[in-house]
Amino acid sequence: MSAPHILVVEDEPAIADTITYALSTDGFEPHWCASGAAALQAQAAGGIALAILDIGLPDINGFELFKRLTAQQPGLPVIFLTARSGEIDRVVGLELGADDYVAKPFSPRELVARVRTVLRRTQRAAAAPPTAPTATSSAATAAAATHGFAIDDERKQIRFRGKALDLSRIEYRLLKVLAERPGRVYSRDELMQRAWDDPAAAFDRTVDAHVKMLRAKLREIDAAADPIVTHRGLGYSLREE
Ligand code: CA
Repeated sequence: MSAPHILVVEDEPAIADTITYALSTDGFEPHWCASGAAALQAQAAGGIALAILDIGLPDINGFELFKRLTAQQPGLPVIFLTARSGEIDRVVGLELGADDYVAKPFSPRELVARVRTVLRRTQRAAAAPPTAPTATSSAATAAAATHGFAIDDERKQIRFRGKALDLSRIEYRLLKVLAERPGRVYSRDELMQRAWDDPAAAFDRTVDAHVKMLRAKLREIDAAADPIVTHRGLGYSLREE
């Protein structure tokens, strides 16, 4: 079997060098492109298994490039290299999955481990769709409803104060865990175990980024609502009323 071809789109040669070196050392075949246009050309040649995209590129930004690459090759796994927290929010907002970005500065080993995990996950997902979370007991649903949340496990939907929230799969699972047991403090690790298909691949800050998105969605329904409590150094809980 030949080495998986990894498209590396990064305009800073020093960073690109580090990445391509780490990838080839680990048995991958990296293809470095310094611009979006070059990346689209390289993709057209075929055989790309995964793309690593810098967001700040000289011609088009990484998000636009992502759209074009996946239009050509639906399901292409992508890992974004993000330099600012605002970019992380956008990546999370795209709902590509939990593990589709690495924040700069990053260690090359961490990035290569991420490449491996994402490839494994996409191959597994192609073989069998992830199993649905376990069914909610009616008692837990009733308890959650008293705190303004109503969980519809069949539709994978949560209503807050009567309004349906538009949640990603991970956000749905996170909020469900918290809402079912108001007052119970969950560590980031526990939340990952419950909400992620592959907890080993998620980092602490990934949980934080998703909680941030959740809070924003809850505020859209009620600007004063802040039902998710941060316990410094411990994790998160749903506020007991
Ligand atoms: Ca750049």
